[in-house]
Amino acid sequence: MPLFDPESGKISISNHSLGYIVDCDTRAVLYSLGYRDQPFMEAPAKCGIGLHDGFAEYFCSENKQAAIGKFTSSYRKWSDTNVAQGSPYEYDNAVRIFSFWMDKNPLSKFPFTVIPELVEKGFEIPLLSDGSITFNGRPDAVVADRKHPENIYIVDHKTVGYMKDEWLRGFEMDAQMSGYCYMAEQYGLNVKGVYINAIEIKKLSDATTACPQHHVPRIDCALKHVGYKVVPYKYNPELIDEWYKTAVSEAVKLRGLLDKMGVDKAGGIVYNLSHINRIRQQGRFRKNQCTNCGFFEFCKQGRTMQAADNFLIKAKEHK
Ligand code: SF4
Repeated sequence: MPLFDPESGKISISNHSLGYIVDCDTRAVLYSLGYRDQPFMEAPAKCGIGLHDGFAEYFCSENKQAAIGKFTSSYRKWSDTNVAQGSPYEYDNAVRIFSFWMDKNPLSKFPFTVIPELVEKGFEIPLLSDGSITFNGRPDAVVADRKHPENIYIVDHKTVGYMKDEWLRGFEMDAQMSGYCYMAEQYGLNVKGVYINAIEIKKLSDATTACPQHHVPRIDCALKHVGYKVVPYKYNPELIDEWYKTAVSEAVKLRGLLDKMGVDKAGGIVYNLSHINRIRQQGRFRKNQCTNCGFFEFCKQGRTMQAADNFLIKAKEHK
């Protein structure tokens, strides 16, 4: 969904774009004007997309073969071409973990029941009452408490190399989850919190040496070393309300930044990239921010129009 429609001036933010506005004005503006923010898709992200397709199928049908089919059609070809041998993200490795996870997680085990029509269901709701700024997203699933179905939770699938407590703690007041809770509230749902479906994607051992934990060759117990858990988080109304205020504040800030890029012309406002030097670069003050940014080369060259020609690429569609 486009973040910004230059013709109407409408801004439709997602959690992804909100992060850019918070992190760096230049990144937010370039992304809003339709430039591609990431030069290439890395294996963890691409594998995560494939797994989300698989989880969505499993949550709806609980059909393991169909879920593997979704993951395979989404990810295998890309993995065969782009993922280094021995990487945890090789298709064969990742599919074994996904298959193992499904064996261990029948849907009846979860403290919630899945609402199939709310799996991967996209939404767009107004943030401002005049509709000039909206919020969009696609929660992995919206589910009902098994014992008290009037209580609703958001489920999000997260993959990670190693599941540290610190990583799990990060979801206690996560912006993306808060936004989804806000969305559920707007639809009149009695949302209580979030479940993070966390799963480790790690290289499965093929060694024949003995595992000191399981006392068998490591190759035989490799899957027993994969961590997974479904972790509940309570999101109170104060947390969600403050998410809303911050989201509005950042979205309004973006509108102000875009105004600085605009030039009034007969027939409407034209957004002129040569005005980018009116926009600040907070990303440079944050560790590793610029090196992970698709606009790195453009910024490094001084944001000149020559650098724009050489390094900026228009994205057909925003994430
Ligand atoms: S490279 Fe750094 S300064 Fe430039 S847009 Fe990205 S985060 Fe901002």
